[in-house]
Amino acid sequence: MDFTNVTKALTARGFKVSSFETAKEAAEYLNTQIDGATVGFGGSITLEELGLYALLSGHNTVFSHWHLPEGGDAAALRAQAAGSEHYLLSANGIAETGEIINIDGAGNRVASAIYGHKKVWIVAGKNKLAPTYDEALWRARNIAAPKNAQRLHAKTPCAVKADHCYDCKSPGRICRALTVLWGAMMGSDMEVVLVNEDLGY
Ligand code: SF4
Repeated sequence: MDFTNVTKALTARGFKVSSFETAKEAAEYLNTQIDGATVGFGGSITLEELGLYALLSGHNTVFSHWHLPEGGDAAALRAQAAGSEHYLLSANGIAETGEIINIDGAGNRVASAIYGHKKVWIVAGKNKLAPTYDEALWRARNIAAPKNAQRLHAKTPCAVKADHCYDCKSPGRICRALTVLWGAMMGSDMEVVLVNEDLGY
């Protein structure tokens, strides 16, 4: 996939952008960029597929509620992640016009994407891209969210077939907030790491 247009659009909106052909190359890059720091992870299949928890844990202090130690407290880990110097997450949809969309249930991931870190890294495979804002929004709601609901065994209509969003009112609804980054937040350092492979959903 050609990242030229999305790179231009993201750059114009204040994001740094780096792009790689493979997940392995992207992981190696991040492993060189983040060193001797505290690092928070948002829940992300993409980050798992890059093997970043193990890589970065070798020379950073990494907080990920998906890697809960025996007897650990997920809420405490989320709070520690929120207070970290670096924060890593993926996106549920990125428009080639530069908007970055995320849907969240607990809110830790979208809150940390917006505020509170020395640097935020948004890692995304080519499958997260859509030509327009409307199509990226559609993707986030109808592809990413139902697949996440299915993964979490949520008691929601979308989790049965992961076919589309039913805009449910279920108690188990995982879609509680939607954020659109129209640009890098003021005073922030945000880098989008694009990978020319399908990663996560
Ligand atoms: S709003 Fe409900 S039906 Fe739609 S994706 Fe989220 S959990 Fe599934």
